[in-house]
Parts: sequence; C-alpha cells; structure tokens
Amino acid sequence: MEFSLSDDQTMLIEVVRDLLRKREGRRDEYLRAIYEEQSFPEELWDDMGQVGILGALVPEEYGGTGLGLLGMAIALEEFATHGLANAFCVLTTMANMAILRGGSEEQKRHWMPRIAEGKVKCAFAITEPDAGTNSFRMRSFAQRDGEVYRLSGGKGWITGADVADQILVVARTVPLQEIEAQGLPRTHGVGLFLIDADAAGLEKQVMNTAGIEGFRQFMLYFDGVEVPLERRIGDEQAGVAVLFQALNPERILAAATAIGMSEFALEKAVAHAAERSVFGDTPIGAYQAVQHPLARVRIAQEGARLLTHKAAWLFDQHLPPDEVGHYANMAKLAGSELAVDAIDAAIQTHGGGGFIRDNHLINLWAAARLLKTAPINNEMILNQIAEHMLGLPRSY
Ligand SMILES: Cc1cc2nc3c(=O)[nH]c(=O)nc-3n(C[C@H](O)[C@H](O)[C@H](O)COP(=O)(O)OP(=O)(O)OC[C@H]3O[C@@H](n4cnc5c(N)ncnc54)[C@H](O)[C@@H]3O)c2cc1C
Repeated sequence: MEFSLSDDQTMLIEVVRDLLRKREGRRDEYLRAIYEEQSFPEELWDDMGQVGILGALVPEEYGGTGLGLLGMAIALEEFATHGLANAFCVLTTMANMAILRGGSEEQKRHWMPRIAEGKVKCAFAITEPDAGTNSFRMRSFAQRDGEVYRLSGGKGWITGADVADQILVVARTVPLQEIEAQGLPRTHGVGLFLIDADAAGLEKQVMNTAGIEGFRQFMLYFDGVEVPLERRIGDEQAGVAVLFQALNPERILAAATAIGMSEFALEKAVAHAAERSVFGDTPIGAYQAVQHPLARVRIAQEGARLLTHKAAWLFDQHLPPDEVGHYANMAKLAGSELAVDAIDAAIQTHGGGGFIRDNHLINLWAAARLLKTAPINNEMILNQIAEHMLGLPRSY
C-alpha cells in the first residue's frame, strides 16, 4: 500500500502554492469579494485554468491536462485551504464529465477544449422545488419537435446561472406517469441537455440565499426553450446513466473543498490560540478546552482526506459508478461534517472575533454548512450506505 503522492501530484501542489503565494497580497480583497459580495474573481478562475484544474478531467487529446480526479481534488483542496474554494468549477466539471462519458465525438471535440481553457463555464440544473431530494419526480419536460426539443418547466437553487455560458439541464423526456404505468424504473425517460445560458424563453430569478462561495442561486423558468438535437448529451431516455458519471466527481470534489475549508479554519484557530492571552500571560491555546476540539479536527481531517483520495483514485481507475459512489458518498459526509466542526471550533476559539466578518470564519460557516445539505443531503447518504453497504431495508 502506498500513501505518498506521486511526483506529478507533489509538483501540482507546489505549482498551486506558488500561484497562491503570488496572489497572497490580494487574498483579503478576494475573500471579501467571494464571501460578502457573492462574486468570484475572474483572475482566480483564469488561474485554475492555467494550473490545469479546469482541464483535469479532459483527456489530453481534447486539450486537457489529464490530471485526473485525484489531481483535481488535491488542487481544489489547496485553493480552499487559502479560503478560495470554487464550487462553480465543480459544476463545470459535471458538464464536462457528462460530455466525456456520454457525449458524441463531435460534442467532445467542440466542448472539452473550451472547458479546459476556462472559456466555457457551466451550471448544473436538476433540483426542482416540488421534487426536492426525490429528483426523479421532476416536471421539467423536453418535448421532441422534429430537429429540436422544446423545454418547459423550471428549476430552483441553480448556482451561478448568471455567470454560466451553458447550463446542463436534467429533464424528463417521458412523463413519470407513463414510466410508472409501464412498470419502468423512475430513472428511465430522463435526458440531459446543454442549453445556452441566454437562450430565448429562459427566465432567471435571483434567490436570496447564503451558501455557495462567490456564486448566487437562481430560479429558472423554461418557456418553450428551443434546444437543438445536437445539444442532447447521451441517450434521449437513458440520460441518467450519464448523469451518474457526473454525480460522483461532484461529491468527491465537494469533500476535497470541505477538507481545504477545515484547514483554513484550523490554521486561523491555532494561530489565534497561540497568540491570545486573557488570564495572565498564558495563551488560550494552553487550555485543553481550546486544544482538544482543534486536535479532533486534525484527526477527522486525516480520515476525511484518506477517504476522499480513495474515492478519487477509484474514480480514476474507471470503476463502475455505483462502486465509486459508496466512497464518494462517505467522503462527502465525512468532509462536510469535518468542515462544519472545524469552523465551529475556530469561531469558538476566536470568541467574539469569530463573528467579525473580516476574519471570514462566520462567512465561511454558511458555505461549509451547505455541504451537509447539498449536493446531496447527508441523510440520503446514510440511507444509501445502510441499504447498499449494510444490506438493510430501504427506509424511504
Ligand atoms: C446554496 C445552494 C446551492 C445549490 N446549488 C444547486 C445547483 O447548482 N443545482 C441544483 O440542481 N441544485 C442546487 N441546490 C439544491 C440542493 O441540491 C437541494 O437543496 C438539496 O438536494 C435538498 O433538496 P431540497 O432542498 O428540496 O430538500 P428536501 O428534499 O425538501 O429535504 C429536506 C430535508 O429532509 C431530509 N430528507 C429528505 N429526504 C430524506 C430521506 N429520504 N431520508 C431522510 N431524510 C430525508 C433531509 O434532511 C433534507 O435536508 C442548491 C442548494 C443550495 C441551498
């Protein structure tokens, strides 16, 4: 068994650290833009393209770096350690994965080089307010009409719909009632469509949400949005098979981001604990009540990272999505709990200072807390582990 990173991965971390060192002087400005103005700096997006993160899951023949998911996870953790997590690059990766694993040769040649270069940013739209966690109850419908589809319905909580160039929309191609009447699984009759973010008939309404670092959420309304046939990714009725290829990377990268967030909080907490004294000259970091929660964070961090690297490694070995899925789910749960605990401990260590916005802890808490709820809530993960790994009855 080998626990050390490869030379390429070590070099990648060095490249990312080098780049972030150059940006250090502007870090506070970036953090304010991200956490207070909900705006992700464009130059950081360009940086991610430059170090090859955006092309990590794009094979070299299509203009990518082929770093793989493990490489991407390591690099995103590093960005998040500096407070510069970027969920939107994870969403773009989902569209990329759908195209890579389910798209035609023409679609790959067209979209993937552009994604790798950072020229095409993609949002991902599956959630509907009435369906919620039960996604396959979605009502958005893509009606075939000759050489086009006409998209109707709506989505909610769609991150970055305002800055996206494209939106990967999951929609029914066969009504759910028909699927149920035929005794087919609910995952059948669902297609994936890559639509222009400024398509005619698409209305976006900003939501007043806190949560994702630097990106706002939107309600989307589709009123007969025309989608050419060549914008369908994968089979008309079996888009879910392609979708599952994109969900695991999302969870694994969410876990990597969470681990980076925990390190951001931990470093701040340790520095503050070592420097702050309130009873004589003894720093508060000498009190076990302050030390122990921080030590627990370090332990949980090691566990979450091992799980995340294993999940990413399994994905890179091209194991079937359901096998990767168990580890992707466990990593996402472990990472999200870690990040919330770490930020909570760091806020406690800072006392009232934990609530000063310029310390960025209280702002980061919402972004970390979101990871317990999305991209999939932790209760659903526990349901799936209980059912598929422990063989217990389905609970819902
Ligand atoms: C900031 C933010 C950004 C988001 N970005 C996107 C995006 O870009 N694209 C997108 O498609 N969606 C996005 N979402 C939506 C997100 O994925 C959903 O909110 C999430 O999956 C939960 O769905 P819901 O809100 O309808 O909760 P509900 O389905 O109403 O569930 C509510 C709660 O009930 C519990 N629960 C539900 N079902 C079960 C069950 N079977 N067993 C046990 N407990 C259960 C869970 O605790 C869950 O949190 C985003 C959400 C937020 C808040």
